[in-house]
Amino acid sequence: MGWSSVIGQKVAKHRLGTLFSGEPGHAYVLTGPTGIGKTMLAMETARALLCSEVTSDGACDQCANCRYTAAGTHPDLRILAIPDGEKGIRVADVRSKVSSDISIYPQIATRKVYVIDGDGLNEEGQNAILKTLEEPPSYAVFLITVQDASKLLPTVMSRSVTVALSPNTEEEVLSILTSRLGVPAKDAVFYARYANGIPGHAINLAQSQWFSGLREDVAGLIFSIPDAGKASILTSAYSFFETEKDHCDEILLIIGLIFRDMAFLTSDGGAVNLLNDDKRDKMKSVISRHKLSVSNIRRANDAVTRASRSLLANCSYESTVCQMLLSIQKELSNA
Ligand SMILES: [Zn+2]
Repeated sequence: MGWSSVIGQKVAKHRLGTLFSGEPGHAYVLTGPTGIGKTMLAMETARALLCSEVTSDGACDQCANCRYTAAGTHPDLRILAIPDGEKGIRVADVRSKVSSDISIYPQIATRKVYVIDGDGLNEEGQNAILKTLEEPPSYAVFLITVQDASKLLPTVMSRSVTVALSPNTEEEVLSILTSRLGVPAKDAVFYARYANGIPGHAINLAQSQWFSGLREDVAGLIFSIPDAGKASILTSAYSFFETEKDHCDEILLIIGLIFRDMAFLTSDGGAVNLLNDDKRDKMKSVISRHKLSVSNIRRANDAVTRASRSLLANCSYESTVCQMLLSIQKELSNA
């Protein structure tokens, strides 16, 4: 554990690192989209703030404070998260865990740290916290996470230092997937690119059975389309879409990423990194068997883009999907 366990986020870590060199500020707002790692960074910062033998890599993992934080029983660490099954944090919990608690001196550490999910706070909850932010005791540090800083009251923001987390690089997301979750490298490449710099998205996809199954099914369907007859497209191919209607957005995205790779493969032989690297041979075989040009692939991809737009505009699902499948069949069979 320690700072180095938070992969990437150099700028955010640098800003939070100033907390350990000298008297810390009292309130930090960590912003960034869901899955970027705000809570992990806040918790790692909290552990370091409470640690009595803090190192250049953050918490020492050895001292009594670290043992308590690891066990989730540190008396000077308060975590306010949205309870399971609820939409927000109750104001009563803000009062009992923060407003009424803040004047009690730390019991073990030299600080008290409050890690708060700002997305769960309504205005009343924020106002309850605001009172403590106006005149915090010297030992208190607030680490508030929120997707978008505009969700917090200007009065809360003006008493806090904003630390924005930025999307990770593809290499960083890959490293999280392979080294931390043990995802095989060939699968990790796809998830890392699909997730667009948000490790949480990549992790969710990598851990979801349905997504990897869906991707395999979609790839199989697309590769079978050039040899399928019109009747089979309108029945069995469409019935797949009918069954997976709830995942239509993901399906169209997966198809778009397959076509992206096929366009690269037709234009430069595939020297570039492919999103679907594990499907390279299959894509190459479809391209060579049907003598596909980059224009064929682009027109097939245009059909997917048009279908996405039509579905957004609430056009009929069946006719939109069938039209798309027939256009894809026309291009991929090079008829
Ligand atoms: Zn420690």
